[in-house]
Amino acid sequence: MKSFPIRLRLTLWYFSILAAGLLAFALFLMGEIHHAMHRTVDNQLRAHMAAVQQIANEDENKSPSALRHDLDEDVELAPDLTLLEIWGHDGQVVYRSYAMDRMQVPDLMTKSSGQPTTVYLASHPLRVLVQSMPASPNYIVMVAIPVRDFVEAIHQVKSTLWIAIPLLLLLAAGGGYWIAGRALAPMRSMIAAAETIHPGDLSTRLEVPRAEDELHRLALTLNRMLDRLQAGFERITRFTADASHELRTPIALLRTRTELLLRRNRHPEEYRAALEASLCELEETSALLEELMLLARADAGAETLRFSNCNLTELVHTATTMMQPLAEANNLTWSVIVPTQPVYLRGDEAALRRVLLVLIDNAVKYTPEHGRVEISLQATDRDITLTVRDTGIGIAELDLPHIFDRFYRADQSRTRGAGGAGLGLSIARWIVEKHGGTISVESTPTVGSVFRVTLPTAG
Ligand code: ADP
Repeated sequence: MKSFPIRLRLTLWYFSILAAGLLAFALFLMGEIHHAMHRTVDNQLRAHMAAVQQIANEDENKSPSALRHDLDEDVELAPDLTLLEIWGHDGQVVYRSYAMDRMQVPDLMTKSSGQPTTVYLASHPLRVLVQSMPASPNYIVMVAIPVRDFVEAIHQVKSTLWIAIPLLLLLAAGGGYWIAGRALAPMRSMIAAAETIHPGDLSTRLEVPRAEDELHRLALTLNRMLDRLQAGFERITRFTADASHELRTPIALLRTRTELLLRRNRHPEEYRAALEASLCELEETSALLEELMLLARADAGAETLRFSNCNLTELVHTATTMMQPLAEANNLTWSVIVPTQPVYLRGDEAALRRVLLVLIDNAVKYTPEHGRVEISLQATDRDITLTVRDTGIGIAELDLPHIFDRFYRADQSRTRGAGGAGLGLSIARWIVEKHGGTISVESTPTVGSVFRVTLPTAG
């Protein structure tokens, strides 16, 4: 059944549930009709029995002939219509109504049970009640009522039900199949639209059904998924294009330099200078390659951080010690403010050092001579904040929302020599977010910038 189309499965379920329901209803109805019939007839039997008892008890020691006479006279019992027979305790028939003879009802004394029972006489059903009467002399009384009409009526209802139920089921199954088809029609158009979507063009969207039902939500969900896929796909395409663009420049430079060098014989000093320049270029390129690979691994979820207990105070010291000579070379005023107590955090030490180096390197890089760079570390119960403040060139308001994007450089005309490839801050943001933290920037052009990294201490 699992491999059946939904439409057929729904119809089969609907059919089975309805069939079970109708069958239960039919059985219940038949049972109720049986009961109602028995109740009506049995009440009548008991009324007849009570009437006989009343007649028998009218006089003490009523003789059988007096009893017979009184019974024949009784209008209520109507002896020509009522099946009534009375025996004495010796088994002798004391009274037998005319109706008994007319309907040729045999002796039913053996049916004595005190409770009404159904007896079939040549396929004529009778409801019979036989009871002994505590009158004097004691009699055994039998009253009976033919129930053929009732039984036939029940048969009639039964056959109507057996014809009506299958017809109703067929009609309902057909209707169910049609309704399921209509309800699933938007699904078919969604499948057709989904078939046309391919990696080359992810701009197609599924038509959203107007009715705000599950299919409406499914179409919306799938469309949102397509939005994310398209954005992801575009990011990958852009990343690949940007990465190849970034790599092409140093390679072209190396090639041109080498070709120029090989055009004629040169002095060993010239070779040396060219090789040194190439080495510098190669070092930058391999650093770029390493950054690209890190981002690619991060996108694929393959880059994992190794968390341990890190001493952030020490980390700030190491990073600032590494960067200080560069700052001094640029004649920058340098200050490091850290708490006296060591600040600990669960994190990846190398990755956090990288974040600090990116921020300090940018601060140094984008701050003109005689500027100021300040690195501070603050800790509260809830979080730790690392701040790198500079009095550099600042960032224009238009660029601010983009500086954490890959390959984004605020000043697009700047060459790689002056700045980096525009990957430092995007790597820093990835690392900070992996630690559950946030990175933000405030900047005013020509005044300076403040980069703030906030890391939660818990977890
Ligand atoms: P890059 O390698 O180019 O420095 P980043 O991702 O580190 O790449 O930075 C992106 C851009 O943000 C930089 O190109 C620069 O324009 C701007 N930027 C980053 N830090 C600073 C800063 N401290 N002062 C001014 N501009 C900055």
